[in-house]
Amino acid sequence: MSRIAYVNGQYVRHADAAVHVEDRGYQFADGVYEVCEVWNGNLVDVPRHLDRLGRSLSELRIDWPMARSAVNFVLHQVVRRNRVRDGLVYIQVTRGVSRRDHFFPPEGVAPSIVVTARASSAAAAAAQAEEGIAVVSYPENRWPRVDIKTVALLPNVLAKQNARENGGKEAWYVDAAGFVTEGGSTNAWIVTKEGVLVTRPAEDRILRGITRAVVLEIIKKEGLTFEERPFSLEEAFNAKEAFVTAATTVVMPVTRLDGKMIGNGHPGSVASRLRELFHTATDLRVV
Ligand code: PLP
Repeated sequence: MSRIAYVNGQYVRHADAAVHVEDRGYQFADGVYEVCEVWNGNLVDVPRHLDRLGRSLSELRIDWPMARSAVNFVLHQVVRRNRVRDGLVYIQVTRGVSRRDHFFPPEGVAPSIVVTARASSAAAAAAQAEEGIAVVSYPENRWPRVDIKTVALLPNVLAKQNARENGGKEAWYVDAAGFVTEGGSTNAWIVTKEGVLVTRPAEDRILRGITRAVVLEIIKKEGLTFEERPFSLEEAFNAKEAFVTAATTVVMPVTRLDGKMIGNGHPGSVASRLRELFHTATDLRVV
């Protein structure tokens, strides 16, 4: 079966899917995106992802490419047509195709939309979570509007590649004051020796992760102690546990930071429990 993508109103073979060379996403990274998890034949937390897509679009003054309900329909279609049971669906919206010029395009240029879906192995993800991942710190060098989920991800690409070249799977950005902001494509958490969960406030130079928000709801429901505040790299080295959250990883334990063991070097019980509970707390829509 060949993969299918949705491009500006048409379902096309993934191998043939293309946008114009003058697309603003290609020319200026003038666009936004969302990634939703597909789990066990369900789309996860789509309403929240579409809320955030709407916010990203409005912050950049890009119109919805079509009605929100139509975007929702296409998401389901692309997942269904690709027979994805576990994996992810990707939506990208850009300011459209127009002769290269920094100014916004003239009236009437329609935003572009692309939707793709990809299967991944739930068993491989579970095995990774049993093992945990290594993280490598990196100086925060992004623009201040990281709350907008733009496709301008060059700093994230460089931070994550640096992590890979140093034996890690994720990068943790560290701001000028020595505090962790977030991961290259995840939000960052620690559990202190006293058992307090700590993550940086959503308003403070991070992307407002949907997974982060769901995990906070679970934490509150379970009556766990948590603090939304910045934590330093030093505090993370001394933490009992660390983990990251994202639609692509759900809750993923971090067992090494800059080559040093976190806790006993194995996934912690808090992170593992949050991972177990995660899908009980999400909005699931059968594909
Ligand atoms: N932070 C960054 C920089 C991200 O790119 C992502 C996801 O792509 C996240 C955090 C996690 O967000 P979510 O849980 O909504 O996937």
